[in-house]
Formats: sequence, C-alpha cells, structure tokens
Amino acid sequence: MRSVTGIHHITAISGDAQENLDFYVGVLGMRLVKKSINQDAPDTYHLFFADAEGNPGTDITFFPWPNMPAGRTGPGVWGEVQLGIPEGTMEFWQQRLTQHGVAAGESGLRFGEPTLPFSDPHGMQLALVEAPLYEGFGFTPWDNSPVDADKQIRALAGARLPERDSTATRRFLESALGLEQLGEEAGWTRYGIGGGEAGRRIDIRDEPGTPGGGWGVGSVHHVAWRAMDESHQSELRERIVGAGASPTQVIDRFWFKSIYVREPGGALFEVATDGPGFAVDEDPEHLGETLVLPPFFEAQRAQIEALLPPLGPPRKAAL
Ligand code: ZN
Repeated sequence: MRSVTGIHHITAISGDAQENLDFYVGVLGMRLVKKSINQDAPDTYHLFFADAEGNPGTDITFFPWPNMPAGRTGPGVWGEVQLGIPEGTMEFWQQRLTQHGVAAGESGLRFGEPTLPFSDPHGMQLALVEAPLYEGFGFTPWDNSPVDADKQIRALAGARLPERDSTATRRFLESALGLEQLGEEAGWTRYGIGGGEAGRRIDIRDEPGTPGGGWGVGSVHHVAWRAMDESHQSELRERIVGAGASPTQVIDRFWFKSIYVREPGGALFEVATDGPGFAVDEDPEHLGETLVLPPFFEAQRAQIEALLPPLGPPRKAAL
C-alpha cells in the first residue's frame, strides 16, 4: 500500500491576526494565499501563508484566537515547526530576524543540517533549516515578497512531536502512514519517507516526565499529510483504519479534501488531497486579497465582515 507523499500543510493557533500577518508576510516573506474564516467559528479568520501558488507542502495556516490562553508544549501536542530555506542563506536569515527584533536561539547542526530555532510573536516554536527538498517538490517564488526569490522559504521542512510513550505512535506512523524510521539524534527519532529530505519527515521523542501539552495561542493544531488524489486518500484512510485508528469521513475543504485522525498519543493528523488547490475560487494573480467564504456562508457576508477584526497589508515589510 502506498504511503503519504509528504507534508501538505500545518495549521496553528495565533494571537492577533494583523500581528500574525505582519510576521509571516512582512518578516518571513511568505504570501497570504487565502483569507477565509474558520468554518466552525465564522467570527475568526483562517489565514493561509505559502509560496506564490500555495503549492502543497509550502502552506502554514492560522486561526487567530487572541483571547485564548497560551498553549502548552508537551506530549500529545505538536511542537516546533521547521521551515526549509535554500542552502547558503542562513546568514541572511539570521540578520533578517535580528533586524526585525526576533530573538533567535542557538544555531547548530541537526541531523547534519544547519538549523536556527526561534519563536513567532505569539510564542510558536519555529526553526529555519537549510535542507535539500525532495525531488518533484513544487515551489513557486513570490515576486512581491520582501525577501528575494533565491532566499525565500521553500517548504515546511518538518515538525517535532513529543510523546509520553511513543511505542504506539511509532507503530501508527509506520503502519497507518507508511513512514520509516530514518535516524536518531539527541533523543529525537526521525520518521519519514524516501531519504527523509525536507518536507517529508517528522521527529518524535519520549518525554515521560513532562505534563501533557495543551492547545492555545502559539500551538500547532494539526499536521496534514499529502495524498495525491481522492483514490490515494481513500487507500490511506483504509490503511489508518487497518492500523486501529478512527479517522473522520472525507470533509470537503474546497481547496482540498481532508480526513482527520488522532494518533495514539493524542496529536491531530490530517490527510489532504493535493488538488484542486487555492486557485479554484480566486484569480492566481490576486490570491488572498479578498475574504473568501464557503458558499453556505455567502448570504451572511455583511455580518461576518463586520465581526472580523480589520486586517490590512503587512506593516513590517519595509524594514
Ligand atoms: Zn488542515
């Protein structure tokens, strides 16, 4: 049976929407490819930042919930999200973060790759990683980015997941998703497919004495994996059921179709189809410029727009 093909997107909870956009567009230079609402909480934005086209594997999305308490990192909740940058650009990025007042941690090698951990303005743990991408990965530079095309963030490189006891999680990664164990370093075990290049691997670690993680501002909500199409997705769904987990039915997210499942340690996974993509309901030239609503919310557009906080262009790009 086929495995997942890589990371599709990662969704997290942020604080203030404008601050979130200022950072991901203005500082990190990603494109806002879709401005929509949380379908379960329509007074909340759902913001999607990606490459110029929103290619699968480039997309980090946020629910800005500024009134929620801060999240807690710990077993069962996804931790650090790693962003892949081109080889030789770490110095540029270090300077750019400093210029924008972002306090970064110690840079160093992880699994042989230069890595720089830092946090976004709402406490979300991120890291920049200089790492080659897997063959066939689609990345389209964004011409209007404040970051030059040859230095732009290429992809979601990976993510970290702490567990209390990862025994069952390891079995789930292998049997439900088709990931393989690729290596170990500093207590972290790397799981991925192929050679574990950026964009198709995650790292897990046992942290038995730590209190469990909890969702809140600055936490990752879920990590979504790529399925090539609907038949691949249904094959993966069967595989997940066969591994003893309970996925949702297929949910139509308009830009892709999704299933969700909790792994045995409690963290939320999604499997999303590559298509149809973000250009299905907007001109690719003008992605993210206007509020896109699911059709059944269109009748309430005026009320929804009145409830959403104002959101302008990034305020930090010019620095
Ligand atoms: Zn998702």
